[in-house]
Amino acid sequence: MKDQFQRKIDYLRISVTDRCNLRCKYCMPVEGVQWMPHESILSFEEILRLMRISTQLGFRRFRITGGEPLVRKGILEFLRESAKIPGVEDLMITTNGLLLPEMAFDLKAAGVQRVNISLDTLDPERFLDITRGGDVATVVQGVFRSLEAGLNPVKINVVVVRGFNTDELPNFLTLAKQYPLHVRFIELMPIGISSEHRADFVPIQEMKEILGLEEYVPTHDILGGGPAEYIQPKGFKGSIGFISAMSRHFCDTCNRVRLTADGKLRPCLHSKHEVSLRDVLRNGTADEDIMELFAQAVWHKPAEHHMNDEALQGRRVMSQIGG
Ligand code: SAM
Repeated sequence: MKDQFQRKIDYLRISVTDRCNLRCKYCMPVEGVQWMPHESILSFEEILRLMRISTQLGFRRFRITGGEPLVRKGILEFLRESAKIPGVEDLMITTNGLLLPEMAFDLKAAGVQRVNISLDTLDPERFLDITRGGDVATVVQGVFRSLEAGLNPVKINVVVVRGFNTDELPNFLTLAKQYPLHVRFIELMPIGISSEHRADFVPIQEMKEILGLEEYVPTHDILGGGPAEYIQPKGFKGSIGFISAMSRHFCDTCNRVRLTADGKLRPCLHSKHEVSLRDVLRNGTADEDIMELFAQAVWHKPAEHHMNDEALQGRRVMSQIGG
């Protein structure tokens, strides 16, 4: 379907949980976050119902995220059922990769086509530090397991933070050169806890200078119609992508809406506007009426976000919004 600004909206990002098995410093405050009560989290049946409804509105692409989606019990069965819904053409997952060594083949068998893995550093000490306890070797193993399983493309998301991983950008470049991996460098967004770290923001232009790639002319996303610009230098098996939500935002081509784990439809990640669908899912409302609410929320998707003017304040973090 189209929104009021004639953008074609066909991509739904679904957060299936706010729980995570990591505690990344830029994502979660040190004191932790208040988890959503279990009863407010949508059941898989409820999510599947919304997916069916959304396909009738023309949604075709679905990304399952969180929190960490792979920690939710029953996720494989849910993915199998999702893949069977007529109209679901692209089923993807965003994960921190910790559970991929044991799950990559099962994900592929369940009908997941591709995977995005968040990996901000290749250094074991730094990874341990930024994730407050994670093991980078397991994630790296998960990356290669995903390639073996035939998930395609496998994308690596690297949030670039000044003074933390800027010196590692060339190592990630080497990874994309040697393997069919699509490494995307992402600008740090001032969301929740990260809004306190604006000085750590590194613009795309500076990343390109660090990598010696400022002369390359990027093409738009060749791998899924998303906001990244990709570069594939000669001899590379993979590619390098840049995602700039801040210095060059891509609202005019934004094609997505988000569903939070507790059933709120957010037409824009960076706007506080949201429509709760949980109650109507639970009070006997008919599919046609839910579809109408869904369509109205999409129609009212804001023209653009205002992160540059005003950070999203409060303690809501990516895992709660649906990163
Ligand atoms: N647990 C999954 C994972 O790690 O990919 C999915 C959820 S996680 C919140 C989704 C992505 O959001 C990760 O790649 C993470 O690095 C990114 N993220 C979190 N906070 C961010 C911020 N302030 N700016 C940019 N990206 C952020």
